[in-house]
Amino acid sequence: MVTVQKFGGTSLSDADARGHVLRHIRREYEAGAGLVVVVSAMGRRGEPYATDTLLEWIGANGAGLAEREKDLLMSCGELISAATLCSLLGAHDLPSVVLTGAQAGIVTDNKFGAARIVEVKTERILASLAQGKIVIVTGFQGATADGEITTLGRGGSDTSATALGAALQADVVDIYTDVDGILTADPRVVSEARQLAVVSYDEICNMAHNGAKVIHPRAVEIAMKAGIPVRVRSTFSDGEGTLVTHANAAEGHIGWSDRTVTGLAHVKGVTQIAISAEGTALNPQLEVFRSMARNGISVDFINVMPAGVLYTVTDGDAPLALRLLAEMGFEPRVRSGCAKVSVIGGGMNGEPGVMAKIVEALAERQIPILQSADSNTTIWVLVREEDMAAALSALHSAFALHAVS
Ligand code: ADP
Ligand code: MG
Repeated sequence: MVTVQKFGGTSLSDADARGHVLRHIRREYEAGAGLVVVVSAMGRRGEPYATDTLLEWIGANGAGLAEREKDLLMSCGELISAATLCSLLGAHDLPSVVLTGAQAGIVTDNKFGAARIVEVKTERILASLAQGKIVIVTGFQGATADGEITTLGRGGSDTSATALGAALQADVVDIYTDVDGILTADPRVVSEARQLAVVSYDEICNMAHNGAKVIHPRAVEIAMKAGIPVRVRSTFSDGEGTLVTHANAAEGHIGWSDRTVTGLAHVKGVTQIAISAEGTALNPQLEVFRSMARNGISVDFINVMPAGVLYTVTDGDAPLALRLLAEMGFEPRVRSGCAKVSVIGGGMNGEPGVMAKIVEALAERQIPILQSADSNTTIWVLVREEDMAAALSALHSAFALHAVS
């Protein structure tokens, strides 16, 4: 019987928070679980050992460093965090051992900064568990087959946790964080957001892909494939949090209903680009997306029409995108500072009137929809960034998300 617990940056940032971490570890340990504890770097940007702070220490976001050495630097935050926790556990008579990602057997490909886990060799973890030790593993990192240290990209500790959970066939992976669970929207933006008792892997994966950073989508995919239940819960309380499981397993749970809409997500910093086919000998349909792809710019919200093309890129990619378009002789209309708002729910498939409700809710608040798109489980609308919070709040009440349980 193995339980994996993962503690995020804010859960480890000060002595008070670490006191809560200790409480959760002690409870599980005393309940007899073999315990693997995955830790992130302590704190957020500005705090001494947070990943962003380590990069700022080098300056220019670590720009002077090669990718390999940047990963070496970025892997330090979790080591400090793990050692700090190990000493705290020791002081409370809880035996533990720290393993780096590499020592814990996390083997990745060699894409520094965004490595993918290819294999988890569990021997060393199992040996330490057999000695009755709590195994603290540094999250967010692994090593290539020939021993180069790699990091897994933003939110990577979530992935470390579920990958270990899958390899160890854990009973559960508990993701401890600074909110009570998965909510109907980001509580930092939508104050009416409510906690969901149960969500399916698909639902949260979809929310995460659309910007809900409460858990990393890759982490969810790994857990889903292995069928390992995940709970997202608060470090600072004893709440049960949100259970993430298969939709059919969730059906029997209290709080699970055939909801049309499960939640909302958002992404800021989006630039909309419109290119007219008129007045140019060039064919935007042919030229534009080929050029974006060749230059590694990912595009979203793509509309291809006889009159031209319409799409979005991140504000970060916009300068390069616009330079490429200018070089090709296009004169795009550009709107930066947009936000993508996503309405997500497995139950909206085939349900009439969902789009009408969205349009109505936004029209009532005089929020212009700049573009929209839909799939069978999601409707996306593009709005101005300054309208985003109001749009989320309008949609939250239009779908009665304050009333979910
Ligand atoms: P950690 O450091 O523990 O990994 P993160 O900052 O990565 O924490 O994730 C937790 C944050 O996710 C919350 O503080 C919250 O603002 C944000 N968040 C975004 N969408 C949601 C959502 N739907 N439910 C809960 N939290 C959300
Ligand atoms: Mg996180």
